[in-house]
Amino acid sequence: MGKYADFYRRSMDDKAGFWAEQARLINWHTPFEQVLDDSRLPFARWFVGGRTNLCHNAVDRHLATRPEQKAIVYLSTETGQEGSYTYRELHAEVNRVAAMIAGLGVSKGDRVIIYMPMVPEAVFAMLACARIGAIHSVVFGGFAANSLATRIDDAKPKLLITSDAGMRGGKTILYKPLVDEALNLAQNPPDKVLLFRRGLDADLAWNAGRDVDWAELRARHLDAEVEPVWLESSEPSYILYTSGTTGKPKGVQRNTGGYAVALAASMKHIYTGRAGETMFTSSDIGWVVGHSYIVYGPLIAGMTTIVYEGLPIRPDPGIWWKIVQDNRVNVMFTSPTAVRVLKKQPPEYLHKYDVSSLRSLYLAGEPLDEPTARWIADALGVNIIDNYWQTETGWPILSSVPAIEDLPRKFGSPGFAVYGFDLKLLDERTGQEVGADEKGVLTAIPPLPPGCLTTVWGDDKRFVNTYFSNFENVLAYSTFDWATRDADGYYFILGRTDDVINVAGHRLGTREIEEAVSAHPAIAEVAVVGVHDEVKGQAVMAFAVVKDAGRTATPEATAALEKEVMATVDRELGAIARPARVCFVTLLPKTRSGKLLRRSIQALAEGREAGDLTTLDDPSALEQIKAAVAAWKSGKA
Ligand code: ATP
Ligand code: MG
Repeated sequence: MGKYADFYRRSMDDKAGFWAEQARLINWHTPFEQVLDDSRLPFARWFVGGRTNLCHNAVDRHLATRPEQKAIVYLSTETGQEGSYTYRELHAEVNRVAAMIAGLGVSKGDRVIIYMPMVPEAVFAMLACARIGAIHSVVFGGFAANSLATRIDDAKPKLLITSDAGMRGGKTILYKPLVDEALNLAQNPPDKVLLFRRGLDADLAWNAGRDVDWAELRARHLDAEVEPVWLESSEPSYILYTSGTTGKPKGVQRNTGGYAVALAASMKHIYTGRAGETMFTSSDIGWVVGHSYIVYGPLIAGMTTIVYEGLPIRPDPGIWWKIVQDNRVNVMFTSPTAVRVLKKQPPEYLHKYDVSSLRSLYLAGEPLDEPTARWIADALGVNIIDNYWQTETGWPILSSVPAIEDLPRKFGSPGFAVYGFDLKLLDERTGQEVGADEKGVLTAIPPLPPGCLTTVWGDDKRFVNTYFSNFENVLAYSTFDWATRDADGYYFILGRTDDVINVAGHRLGTREIEEAVSAHPAIAEVAVVGVHDEVKGQAVMAFAVVKDAGRTATPEATAALEKEVMATVDRELGAIARPARVCFVTLLPKTRSGKLLRRSIQALAEGREAGDLTTLDDPSALEQIKAAVAAWKSGKA
């Protein structure tokens, strides 16, 4: 057997031995007595009886070996601010914030909502919560008041930490009025709001009894030293709500010891990040990628992590590569959406900077289509590693594991089952395993490995009902994604189980058709949905963004391109998958984490309301879909 195959086998056959070994990658205050308690599946407890602390592992334990190394490099192309914190400085800041929030009445087990832009203080706040055993729930900054209010009501926080404003694309987004509105809407508002002022809101409304100024309070705790609270491994570290692409967000609850171990192991085996090196993850602390690979993962590994506030194309599309050059970035992590944005820019920006320090670029969050993967691989000349996971799992389910064995990658596949995940592709109806290259629901047999969600916050029933009750004869965690596995063990994600189009009895994954459309060289990006059709059940509709606007400059050119795209789909997948229409737009509606809102596109295409849009990034994208649908309908009439 190959090296990775051995490694994986061991994680299945000797779970306790395997994970006990990984557990040595972190510091324990009290050793665990039992590696795994799986007596109450699907609930599982890892490292039972062990006591540890995430903040200690991310910060304190590096003080002896690398006190003067940069822990955080901060950079905002929105405000022009730049700076850095060594591990010693980070330790001091985190202790101050820990004392500040403890002074505001927060203690072990209390929830703290963090609603902040990408500033270092947001990271201090997360680590400070972890230090004192408080449970943070970071809500992506800029979410509407209503979304914030529902999360407040679910988490019932003791404290909310926020800032006066965030910035995006040069525009200031005032947070404080949003927070005030959310607290009015909420049934269970916290008593206190800790406010970090960036000086971006000249007429900040101050609520004297409730609002507390960060800078003033910090000044009173400059010399604070706060001992970490040693949590039992299964005690919660944080709650994070899922993106809400498919419906009401779920409060994913994460434990402490298992998460620390899972991250330490993934940094070593998957992301190949070594102490002293630099990692740049271009996500946001509001998402799971930000939690795991901006904050906890790189810091637990003793790396320098880049905290970047800004877009990939401002001040110009070379900014990321400049960051890589200036900081000698070794490992980078971003999303396919961001790469597709760069793909639409002039290529010379990629070659302006020295990116020779970079070993690998990791991409996750949504399907990485083959043309995009090829484009970035050729342009950068580094390893491109697609990895597939979810807010629920906290770290990859499917990936290459290059530090164990650098097996060849196949474009379009996020690789194979990651150690610890007992994956099965199950037939949606029978729950039987499907064969090679056959489509099934991607599931994992419990116990889920360390680091995965332990329950849905405050709702064990929902945890079991939502994730583990989809098959009659087998207890399996459902990812709600379709996938196939080839004979070599490589998985291919075909889309979400609720994103299936049924054309005349043929069940087609939206992802498959999108891949086919993207195979046309003029297409930068596409969303495919099924719309009700009297004859076929559903018809395929494609909304595509072209790389070069010239291709759709005239109605004749547009019609010609539409025909070409249809012919491409015929060739790639067969006529059954051919879109009834290909509409061209300049922007697709996405969530703020860059995921396509197919649900809303489909609703509009069928003449319904777009539904819950609290996570929508840019509303003008929906207007374009509406206009395209209207043009299509009037053309048809
Ligand atoms: P909700 O569950 O609330 O609807 P969400 O599923 O969008 O929200 P996340 O946990 O942020 O929230 O996203 C996980 C999903 O993203 C996966 O289930 C999968 O559909 C998609 N995904 C993530 N990484 C990849 C990848 N590498 N390739 C294909 N799809 C991916
Ligand atoms: Mg999901």
